[in-house]
Amino acid sequence: MKECLFCKIVRKEIKSDIVYENEHVVAFKDISPVSPFHLLLVPKKHISSIMEIDSLKDSEVKEIMKAIKTVAEENGLDKKGFRVVINMGPYGGQIVDHLHFHIMGKRKFEWPPG
Ligand code: AMP
Ligand code: ZN
Repeated sequence: MKECLFCKIVRKEIKSDIVYENEHVVAFKDISPVSPFHLLLVPKKHISSIMEIDSLKDSEVKEIMKAIKTVAEENGLDKKGFRVVINMGPYGGQIVDHLHFHIMGKRKFEWPPG
């Protein structure tokens, strides 16, 4: 069993506010939100970052993308738009080493990001 924070959230050994779940992914509220809507969507299968994406099947990668779309639709983010972020490594600001997608919305985001 992985001693990984997000694996423990997936296994429900650590409490989180789960907003969406299916066979492939769990999406839960970020504990420290940076926007009025801020979820983390994680594959149930542990991979430490985007750099290990080849260890997922193509169909699993597609399921992740479809789940992001579903979460956006179910929460009305598709109307005005939203932002999805993957952080990788120290320059990317990755803190938790389990691939996760920040899904942020309900405010306008700047470009370029800080
Ligand atoms: P990253 O910097 O991309 O690795 O993002 C990690 C994110 O996980 C941060 O936005 C944290 O606020 C969030 N986070 C850390 N611990 C928890 C937790 N127990 N439940 C929900 N979100 C968390
Ligand atoms: Zn993990």
